[in-house]
Amino acid sequence: MQEVAPDVFCVEGTAVNWVLLRDGTELTLIDAGWPGDTSAVEDSIRMLGRHPIDVQAVLLTHAHLDHMGAINHFHQKYATPVFMSSAEVPHARDGHLEQAKPTDIIKRCYRPSALRWTARIMVAGALKPVQIAHAEPYPTPGPLDVPGAPVPVACAGHTSGHSAFHLPDKGVLVTGDALVTGHPLSPLSGPQLLPPFFAHAPAEAEAALQCLAGVDAEVLIPGHGMPWRGTPAVAAEQARRHARTSNTL
Ligand SMILES: [Zn+2]
Repeated sequence: MQEVAPDVFCVEGTAVNWVLLRDGTELTLIDAGWPGDTSAVEDSIRMLGRHPIDVQAVLLTHAHLDHMGAINHFHQKYATPVFMSSAEVPHARDGHLEQAKPTDIIKRCYRPSALRWTARIMVAGALKPVQIAHAEPYPTPGPLDVPGAPVPVACAGHTSGHSAFHLPDKGVLVTGDALVTGHPLSPLSGPQLLPPFFAHAPAEAEAALQCLAGVDAEVLIPGHGMPWRGTPAVAAEQARRHARTSNTL
């Protein structure tokens, strides 16, 4: 766990990150790992001296299995609500996810690191369908009335309802999978788009970098890879450059 800015914590699970925002004794959880990361999500909350029931809400950047894992557990055990963009709600509810198929992934497992990653995600629940029947859209536009007051930033492309979250007071942008800094299937490090086969609409995912580039922040917390210090504008430019020069996997 890394305190990226005061009261903003990035935690790495099974090659995926979640974020905890702290306001006094209350927390917001952004994304929730794989199903197999559920106890690690709870542990990360206890490491802050809090209890999972202190999580006032879960926010979901996008409905992919590696970000949804602990959400039903929190709802069943602690009645924690979950909010996401209205475009993402139907996918989360019916479980028809805009997600790479296992065959897309297996085709790319020619590198040992990719094979190791695939083995890890299988254990973490990659083949287990998840539906979030209690998924709700953001209740208001603008800053959300949850600890940390994150502001959703629409950046569709990776999925058709993907959100980033801006924390204006902290100078932090939580980018989810709209902009990452590393992934076991990518040979690159630093700001980048995920390999195109992970995106629902790869061209839109590249265009969405423009939405992030205009956000005023000094630190990015991605869905995959390490937190990164720099502005979204510089990160977006690096990601565009990588997208133009890297081989598509
Ligand atoms: Zn994703």
